[in-house]
Amino acid sequence: MSEEFIAHQLSPSSWSRYEECPRKYWLSRQRLPRKASMPAAMGNAVHNSVEDICNIDVSDRDEEEVEWLPSTAKAILDRHWAKEKKNFLETPRHPRWKAEMITKAHDGLIGALNILFSKSPVGKIGLSEVTIGQWKQIQSIILANEGTLVSECGRLMGRLDLLIADIDEDGNSRGWIVADLKTGKPPKVNLNEKVSRQLRFYRDLLKDINPDHPEISAEGWYSANQTIHRADGDSVLPAALIAWEGMRPTDEPMEATPSDQACGFCEYKAWCPIWWNARRDGTLPPGPMFRDEVVRVIRFDSDAGAALFERMPPIGHDGEVARSEHKFGAIIRDQAKIQMNELINSGYEGPIYLGSVRVDGKIVHLGDWSEVLPWSPLLFSQRENQSRMSSRN
Ligand code: SF4
Repeated sequence: MSEEFIAHQLSPSSWSRYEECPRKYWLSRQRLPRKASMPAAMGNAVHNSVEDICNIDVSDRDEEEVEWLPSTAKAILDRHWAKEKKNFLETPRHPRWKAEMITKAHDGLIGALNILFSKSPVGKIGLSEVTIGQWKQIQSIILANEGTLVSECGRLMGRLDLLIADIDEDGNSRGWIVADLKTGKPPKVNLNEKVSRQLRFYRDLLKDINPDHPEISAEGWYSANQTIHRADGDSVLPAALIAWEGMRPTDEPMEATPSDQACGFCEYKAWCPIWWNARRDGTLPPGPMFRDEVVRVIRFDSDAGAALFERMPPIGHDGEVARSEHKFGAIIRDQAKIQMNELINSGYEGPIYLGSVRVDGKIVHLGDWSEVLPWSPLLFSQRENQSRMSSRN
């Protein structure tokens, strides 16, 4: 495998990001401060707990033992929850940690285990009723869990959740099922195209790496309502390889394709001048309740959590901003207030990006859901920036 391939691999998530907006993908590769999210932390805790539970060694336990799984599952989840919390709070950009979401994580874990039981010779069974002997039967269908799949050519990679034997009523294997655990919202009817493509991507990678593979199907396991959605269709690898070509690292920023959908939850807005220009030009609507702003601080009263801002509209295309007559007040609380204090105490005096402010008549509210960051449009890759700086010194 060449160096180039290692530096640049396509995964289902990077492919989707590239498709949504090539600039978003380009920014995601610039080692910008990471942002933590509660749904991702919850998903990790559930995934890692399922992995650990699948790997429990029960070889020396009494085959008839019952009521061991609920407490074991809870202890494992608690451990992963604590790890996720630590990572979350250590991530430079993080909202409030929602401790109450552990209930949802616990339900998700039980949902995922119930789906696994239903695929095994044991069938549907309550968690506390599972005997050690039955657990061994359940474990026997697990062929692999949490592994990295890399295509023969080295260009494509994906993280596999579970590979299990697809068994018929008589317990005979009729092939493999590659299962992806989903802790998010289940589809109403069919999988959306992106999720279907992601599942088929794992299926097709497995086929690529295992030339003598049996029949392989790909399924999304939705723990929230314990439903299974199968993805069928042609191989997605040819399209992935075409996308891989376009995703080669570049020093110049890639093209941006701003849209409501792409920019809505884009975490790189503080480094992207394009959405702000699109807002000025009216091609990107501001959003009725939540919107982003680039501002100058006129006044900030840290004790009262009140501020007066001046909007800084863009001039040109590279993120320069200008003064304006547009002023608005803000109530700033919790996480956003901490961020604003840190920024101002650091001596920063430049334009500020306000992410996700809630509009309430003539004023806006910032809180745990918002972000306060220096406005720093990135016009070259970090590598190019560094080489420009060192040639200047
Ligand atoms: S803010 Fe919009 S245009 Fe800019 S990188 Fe994100 S998705 Fe692309």
